[in-house]
Amino acid sequence: MEFYYQRSYRGPLKAVLLDWAGTTMDYGCYAPAVVFIEVYKRQGVPISIDEARAPMGAHKKVHIRKISQAASVSQRWQEAHGRKPNEDDVEAMFQEFIPLQLNCLADYADLIPGTLEAVADFRKRGLKIGSTTGYIGDMMKLLLSEAKKRGYEPDSTVCATDVPAGRPEPWMCLQNAMNLGVYPMEALVKVDDTLPGIEEGLNAGMWTIGVAKTGNELGLSEQEANMLAPDEMAARLEKAYARMYAAGANFVVDGLGDVPPIIAQINQLLAQGARP
Ligand SMILES: [Mg+2]
Repeated sequence: MEFYYQRSYRGPLKAVLLDWAGTTMDYGCYAPAVVFIEVYKRQGVPISIDEARAPMGAHKKVHIRKISQAASVSQRWQEAHGRKPNEDDVEAMFQEFIPLQLNCLADYADLIPGTLEAVADFRKRGLKIGSTTGYIGDMMKLLLSEAKKRGYEPDSTVCATDVPAGRPEPWMCLQNAMNLGVYPMEALVKVDDTLPGIEEGLNAGMWTIGVAKTGNELGLSEQEANMLAPDEMAARLEKAYARMYAAGANFVVDGLGDVPPIIAQINQLLAQGARP
């Protein structure tokens, strides 16, 4: 046969999958960062906020393991304990992490400004709303009820603990697609504030949008962000945008509030036969 024909999806987006901390709530993604710092402090190995934030987006136990594997942390652990941190240490810190995180989670549950308006826009376009997170089930239960009190209720939520592996693997996204009953995967878009979260969406074959300003990349609360000198903010944002584009994000914006016009843009691209 001389000619082959390729099927391509030309319809619009059907669903948006939103990350939690740093994307829809907890401006600056502080809740996990402060608890990771506390957990390591209790081990006699203080870590910096940058060390605490580096693996953000991963399953929280994987996150603790990755911190322990950072060269700087591993060396300080060796100095404090006379040996490198091992898997038993990771497990013990994870068990300590869970109640500490549950205790303070509600303090960081305020929605990021623009979230309700963006979600209303997605609904108006007929999009279903799913969500993925590195938090474990008990934490999400608490956050879902806090979010509902504030007017945000996604149609589907999948935690790292509901699937064989969390980010950057795509399983949470695929489970959301099943829960929502939508396909093909190029009819879904993922929005996330971390690099593993961007990879998660790309690995699932979805369009992926990075949020650079409101989450872990800048690591600033709304108040801190507002107080930052404009040129300093511009420099930090430029770096965050570059990191997210280098991770493969199809689009990068400041925050979720900037996503609605991108939805229209992706719909145009899809109509022309483009894929993520
Ligand atoms: Mg996040």
